[in-house]
Amino acid sequence: MRVIMLGPPGAGKGTQGERIASRYGVPHISSGELFRDEVARQTETGKTLRRYLDAGDLVPDDLVLSLVMDRVLAAEAEGGFVLDGFPRTLPQAQAAAKVARDANMSAQAVLYLEVPAEVLSERLADRGEGRADDTVQVARHRLDVYTEHTKPLVDYYEQRGIIVRIDASPPVDEVSEAIFAVLDRIDD
Ligand code: ADP
Repeated sequence: MRVIMLGPPGAGKGTQGERIASRYGVPHISSGELFRDEVARQTETGKTLRRYLDAGDLVPDDLVLSLVMDRVLAAEAEGGFVLDGFPRTLPQAQAAAKVARDANMSAQAVLYLEVPAEVLSERLADRGEGRADDTVQVARHRLDVYTEHTKPLVDYYEQRGIIVRIDASPPVDEVSEAIFAVLDRIDD
């Protein structure tokens, strides 16, 4: 099972990604989590990452690829992957697609978690301030960054014929059911 999750911040990618991972027995690879771990270890790379994360800005593509791609390739031995937060830009998607194709492990589906704008702003306003990048102001900025850099991936994956639109506005369990109904059919 090789799945990519796409959707705005607040769509529920993390929650659904975990559930998909446990149902199909594949690793949930969250680029944000990988980066936060690196920050916590206080490495030089972590210090660089921190500036981008705290501001809600994208980490540069070459750095993202160098940190995430090896983990993705290693996941093949674990039955595949659920990618959450990566790819996030067109250059990332193109680079990842090429490497994946060469390794014969292209994604089988891209789940696009769609949330109406008004539901999204409600969810963002409800967010706590536990994470440095979770203030309302930074959350809004992340939404703008998403719209400009990540949303274009919907067209890219649509052209590749692997996008599946999921209405992510119902309660969490309903969204999971909708996702499982799709993935059960491509389970291998
Ligand atoms: P959420 O799941 O809350 O939308 P993430 O945990 O995926 O957020 O990402 C947190 C931050 O990590 C982003 O705001 C960005 O700074 C950085 N980041 C994560 N993945 C990527 C990526 N693929 N490309 C660039 N930056 C990334």
